[in-house]
Amino acid sequence: MTANSRLIEQDLAAVWHPCTQMKDHEWLPMIPIWRGQGVWLEDYDGNRYLDAISSWWVNLFGHSHPYINKAIKQQLDTLEHVLLAGFTHEPIINLSQRLIKLAPQGLTRCFYADNGSSAVEIALKMSFHYFHNQGQTQKTKFICLSNSYHGETLGALAVGDVALYKETYAPLLMQAITVESPDCFMRDPDSSCREHSIAKFNIMRTTLEQHAHEVCAVIVEPIVQCASGMRMYDPVYLKLLRNACDEFGVQLIVDEVATGFGRTGSLFACEQANITPDYLCLGKGLTGGYLPLSVVMTKEVIYQAFYADFKTLKAFLHSHSYTGNPLACAAANATLDLLEQTPALAHNAHLSKHMHDTIEPLRDHPHVAEIRQRGMILAIEMVKDKQTREPYPWQERRGLRVYEYGLKHQMLLRPLGNVIYFMPPYVITDDEIDLMIKVAIEGINEATA
Ligand SMILES: *Cc1c(COP(=O)(O)O)cnc(C)c1O
Repeated sequence: MTANSRLIEQDLAAVWHPCTQMKDHEWLPMIPIWRGQGVWLEDYDGNRYLDAISSWWVNLFGHSHPYINKAIKQQLDTLEHVLLAGFTHEPIINLSQRLIKLAPQGLTRCFYADNGSSAVEIALKMSFHYFHNQGQTQKTKFICLSNSYHGETLGALAVGDVALYKETYAPLLMQAITVESPDCFMRDPDSSCREHSIAKFNIMRTTLEQHAHEVCAVIVEPIVQCASGMRMYDPVYLKLLRNACDEFGVQLIVDEVATGFGRTGSLFACEQANITPDYLCLGKGLTGGYLPLSVVMTKEVIYQAFYADFKTLKAFLHSHSYTGNPLACAAANATLDLLEQTPALAHNAHLSKHMHDTIEPLRDHPHVAEIRQRGMILAIEMVKDKQTREPYPWQERRGLRVYEYGLKHQMLLRPLGNVIYFMPPYVITDDEIDLMIKVAIEGINEATA
């Protein structure tokens, strides 16, 4: 019995894994990892896997980065945790000051949680509560985009639109107003992504006209709708949305849990539309992929709407036990150091270009409908029919075949349905990109044969 197989047996007897039909593991290998180094993960039998998806989009500078390791160890020797109500600590003060400097202009307040879904819950509650505190109690609804994803807790699920995760729980969820996404995969072949995004904005505008009186906020993933298959749209949509929200007295929640910290080419995707949302949700890459931490950044006027004598009961009394954990803040501060002190974003521009050039041979593939990219996110849409774009039936699980092929060839390429994508750590090399893309192409050939 190998070290792997012993651990797999023990795991499958005790652990219930996330986002998994556990029965799949009767034939799909579970991979026990004992260490990570840079872009590489290694299992107990000595097999290596290139983490092409940054362990679900959290990792920025590779696994076990010496600088981040050191920062966490130093913090560990002084303070592991203290409650954040009534108490504070330097790591969270530093982090907040730095985020305020880095984020779009006007976001001056940081409210923390420990995962992206919770950040979304906070933004939704804050937006509702903001209007409530102003006496606008008729505002109780939220607008979201089709194909959107904002997390798995009930509030976040309610403003998402990925049927696979949402449908079962529909009876439990608040009703959101879902507006057709500007997703450029759906555009006419003779219109540009920008034209398509502008045209689709009409639907959002009409919805705002009709519902503004009862709507607290619109929530969007900026530019890339990640979990629904890395569907992309033009930043112009965000610009139009910001203006319309102002016009109709509706707030804007931008969920950058996945797109934040350089993934789309700029530090935040919002920057590409030059907008400031009312709430900016950050998570995932915030700690470089080390520890769970998320934050909602908001504006001073919103903060002030809660600032009053206690007996007015205007305070935002939301909390999580581990809010503002110092170890997580230390990891986040070290991650910001790396983003600020290394030419990470400029280097990413090079890596993005290299991914773009290397994937070229796949463009003419008979089962690839589109290859789309924004910065460090590159996605390949596999279809049954290239001309009509008829998708493969989901039951065939073609993406999973690419995943299996990848695992046998040193590659962690966990797909989203029939979409294969790369979202690698920023420390990947050109040679590693070549390997990643070579294995993906082989895997796609095999899965579509
Ligand atoms: C992953 C994700 C979330 C949820 O974050 P968790 O930390 O998994 O709860 C929310 N929004 C977006 C856009 C995400 O990609």
